[in-house]
Amino acid sequence: MLKKKKYALTFDDVSIVPGYSQVLPGETDVSTRLTKSIKLNIPIRSAAMDTVTEEKMAIAMSQQGGMGIIHQYLTPQEQAEQVRKVKRYESWIIENPITIEPKKTVGAVKKIMRENQISGIPVVENGKLVGIITKRDILFVENNSLKVEDLMTKKLVTVLKDITRDKAKQTLQKNKIEKLLVTKKDGKLLGLITVKDILRKEKYPNATRDSVGRLMVGAAVGVGGMKRVELLYKEDVDVIVVDSAHGHSKNVLNTIKQIKKQFDIDVIGGNVVTAKATEDLIAAGADAIKIGVGAGSICTTRVVTGVGVPQITSIESCSEVADKYDIPVISDGGIKQYGDIAKAIAAGASSAMIGGLLAGTEEAPGKKVLLEGRLFKEYRGMGSEAALEARYGPGRYFVSPKGKTVPEGVEGLVDFIGPVPEVLHDMVGGLKNAMGYAGIKTLKEFRKKTKLVEVSLGGQRESHPSVRITKEPRNYRAFPG
Ligand code: IMP
Repeated sequence: MLKKKKYALTFDDVSIVPGYSQVLPGETDVSTRLTKSIKLNIPIRSAAMDTVTEEKMAIAMSQQGGMGIIHQYLTPQEQAEQVRKVKRYESWIIENPITIEPKKTVGAVKKIMRENQISGIPVVENGKLVGIITKRDILFVENNSLKVEDLMTKKLVTVLKDITRDKAKQTLQKNKIEKLLVTKKDGKLLGLITVKDILRKEKYPNATRDSVGRLMVGAAVGVGGMKRVELLYKEDVDVIVVDSAHGHSKNVLNTIKQIKKQFDIDVIGGNVVTAKATEDLIAAGADAIKIGVGAGSICTTRVVTGVGVPQITSIESCSEVADKYDIPVISDGGIKQYGDIAKAIAAGASSAMIGGLLAGTEEAPGKKVLLEGRLFKEYRGMGSEAALEARYGPGRYFVSPKGKTVPEGVEGLVDFIGPVPEVLHDMVGGLKNAMGYAGIKTLKEFRKKTKLVEVSLGGQRESHPSVRITKEPRNYRAFPG
């Protein structure tokens, strides 16, 4: 029996009503809240899936003002290592840098540089800074048994932690060097400032950064994964996502409570689709709620179990409650066209999580596949048979006690669509244009004031081009069926 004689709606079933406007898309502000305390400059996150978000995607997403959530089908150590790489990728001061002793060999230096992709190592003896050895010092050195102390630079340029960016740039320029050694007042090494980091930072002024200037990153965990949380926390992960196909369950609620009790970190709980579930997650301590059951492009949950609620209705039900507690909600799954992001926000979401539309980018970990002259990338559900077999730990799906799994997802291919910055440019561009049509300047207002109308089947057909397409635009996909 239907509870209410009303259809549940999804993205295709609604459209945004334009309003009087004096707002140009270029003037709009799309910054938003991911959780109660984390701000994003664009309302987009990449999904915690093994063909969507690993370190490369997380770095690209954060540089553009969004965020990536590293998936949980890795060992806790592997996942923590990925978080470490994102946090260290671009920092103002690299604290506790890798060091080497003066008696070590050039061979050891080369190995450290190769494995850690770094170009300079401070030389420390008995806790005292005695030199720095850089790629330039060993550029043409073929004898790997030479000692560090014979090749290192001994004339050191050191600065204190509170140096300003401008002063650091001037010092680098004056001394014609690429690295500054940051020391404590007693001369002990504290960290490094590199030209590379300064340049990267200036290239991405919109990036999502933590309080000390490092890129932000999130990580997904399953129920009860406290050891995993501890390792992630030690690497300064910015947010933990307790990621389950059924977030309204005892184990998820208990896991959230436990994390909030043990660690000082923001936690996102999900996935849910009802007001009651939202209320319970908030009561358990969640700092944001992730919404979506059965909406994903690789998802078969609604078909093989008959369970789920279309996405627009889910967002409306959950955000109504979450608003009372001032907790943001995230729409997860089902974004098939770029305009669906604006619709998700107009329905009440503060940001959107995207899998399929980002799985085709250069930075996604899926393999490239050439098929009939066209380039694709592999994309699979975390509940697909192959992913369930490859998972480490409980994962996000029910697993029967005998270990036999019931797949709730498929494996497939998505079009290869190029690098993340270009794709995000189109996605955010679509959203900014929507705000221009609505005449609303900030995302906060857009979320509250934008009107949606239901669209008939004829209206849905009318929304798409009805000619034979001779040149596919980058930002439009005609879906099968
Ligand atoms: P997409 O953006 O429509 O491709 O959906 C991605 C979202 O689908 C993810 O963020 C998950 O919430 C969800 N998801 C991932 N894997 C599966 C699966 O195997 N079955 C059902 N849902 C999935």
